[in-house]
Amino acid sequence: MTKRAYNFNAGPAALPLEVLERAQKQFVDYEDTGMSIMEMSHRGAVYEGVHKEAEQRLLSLLGNPEGFKVLFLQGGASTQFAMIPMNLLGEGQVASYVDTGSWAGKAISEAKLLGETQVAASTKADHYMRVPTSEELQIAANAAYVHLTSNETIGGVQFKQFPDTGDVPLVVDMSSDILSRPLDMSQFGMIYAGAQKNLGPSGVTVVIAREELVNHSPKHIPTIFRYDTHLSNGSLYNTPPSFAIYMVNEVLKWIEEQGGLEGVERLNTQKANLIYDAIDNSNGFYKGAAHSDSRSHMNITFRLQTEELEKAFIKASEQAGFVGLKGHRSVGGLRASIYNAVPYESCKALVEFMRDFQKKHGE
Ligand SMILES: *Cc1c(COP(=O)(O)O)cnc(C)c1O
Repeated sequence: MTKRAYNFNAGPAALPLEVLERAQKQFVDYEDTGMSIMEMSHRGAVYEGVHKEAEQRLLSLLGNPEGFKVLFLQGGASTQFAMIPMNLLGEGQVASYVDTGSWAGKAISEAKLLGETQVAASTKADHYMRVPTSEELQIAANAAYVHLTSNETIGGVQFKQFPDTGDVPLVVDMSSDILSRPLDMSQFGMIYAGAQKNLGPSGVTVVIAREELVNHSPKHIPTIFRYDTHLSNGSLYNTPPSFAIYMVNEVLKWIEEQGGLEGVERLNTQKANLIYDAIDNSNGFYKGAAHSDSRSHMNITFRLQTEELEKAFIKASEQAGFVGLKGHRSVGGLRASIYNAVPYESCKALVEFMRDFQKKHGE
């Protein structure tokens, strides 16, 4: 048996073992072609088959929503922070953003460089430890779109439902919770994600958007930054990150095998409840960072009473085979990232470790 770490990395993150093993088998010789998928032309039938399959699988897992198209892009979600206002923010319009923490803040900074930007709601006063309610949103009358971050990877807060933005397209950064639960796509204009948390390896960014939103980029935008370039070329305008897209397709197959989005949601809820219960039943030894109604099922942020104790926790956890439990450098504390591919067994091992650690260090 392959020895696997208890991997709680925030991103790049754990991938399903089955997917890694399947990819390993196909690594050198992809389906008797005598070459790796990485060595093939992206214009050839074999690669194009994989590329199209990945697109179709994504849409199928989302219930084949009417009018939506998939784009495979590069440059990470961070590039989308710029491409969104470049493409979607028209003359005389306002870009409207929901400010929920680190990643929302980065998206807002980029939009400000490109046009008039409004913050429709912010939870800064609560140290970003909750997401705003729909009632808190004040969307500018001439908003081109409303942007929000469904899951703040660093703070550990997640939208449980999405605000109704009426006719204004809702654009959502789902980098850290895409395909972790069923989604009603009729609510969105566009969703996007860097692949390296829930979809595959780093190197590809997935955009799923309404065709009418992305088929007419402003004339002055350079070719490579235009959504309509990638749309009209089926994400093959230039060389795509073919190996990363192949891996995404394999991860999507694995999600299907888990029972689709309902299946992964069931498992994700069990995993999250297990760890949150351990935090809540620790008599205050561990403290959840996020407000309970905004707690993320993907990134569990928690603290101990002192930074010394947190340091000791991280050190002991590493010695016990756990990886990635240190909180982001900007907020400190501890964080367990439990994306789709993190097995229930890893979460169980973590909870046992937490109880042990408390026995040794608690009162
Ligand atoms: C990781 C992350 C990003 C940044 O993704 P890159 O692919 O590194 O650009 C953006 N938004 C969220 C919510 C993230 O978790």
